[in-house]
Amino acid sequence: MKEEQTLILIKPDGLQKSLTGNILTKLSEAKLYIVGAKVVKVSDKLAYTHYKHLAKEPFFDELTKYIKGELHGKKYRRVLALVYRGEKAIAKVRNLAGATNPEEAEPTSIRGSYGRITTEGVYENVIHASSSTEEAEREIKLWFSPEEIVENIYPVKDKGGEKVWETTCEDTQKPA
Ligand code: UDP
Ligand code: MG
Repeated sequence: MKEEQTLILIKPDGLQKSLTGNILTKLSEAKLYIVGAKVVKVSDKLAYTHYKHLAKEPFFDELTKYIKGELHGKKYRRVLALVYRGEKAIAKVRNLAGATNPEEAEPTSIRGSYGRITTEGVYENVIHASSSTEEAEREIKLWFSPEEIVENIYPVKDKGGEKVWETTCEDTQKPA
């Protein structure tokens, strides 16, 4: 069966609550393998591009502050970005992550166990997980350059001696 890849972000609340180990242990139930990982200080541009489908939502401002780490103190102004690969990777990780709303998430899922709703109304749900193959491709190309992924997951081309994704899903080749 065809393998697919998915983007996972351990969000600033997950880092602040010291949940990295717990989250990775839970994700290991999916029996996938890691092809990329890094700590990222999220810029305005990266936050807006990542969540562009939600730009019209009333919680968008708070959401971009959240992913940039502006709600969790200076030491947590970052996220841990991971790319996992394997059969049905997207559905398996979404399933372990649980529903977007932590109150509706299955209680033993990652979001059900560790998420909360803030008084401002944002779902602090400790991880992001891509929800479709198209979204995974867009997001992985947004967050990672080809050199940062240890397998050939999408076609690449040479641009002045540098490997770049052959096609991008938006204008942002590599976030500032
Ligand atoms: N979100 C929120 N309130 C909502 C919907 C979404 O605070 O009513 C936040 C939440 O942190 C969520 C993120 O926005 O993870 C992205 O929303 P999306 O609908 O893409 O959910 P996801 O794919 O993360 O489950
Ligand atoms: Mg989503």
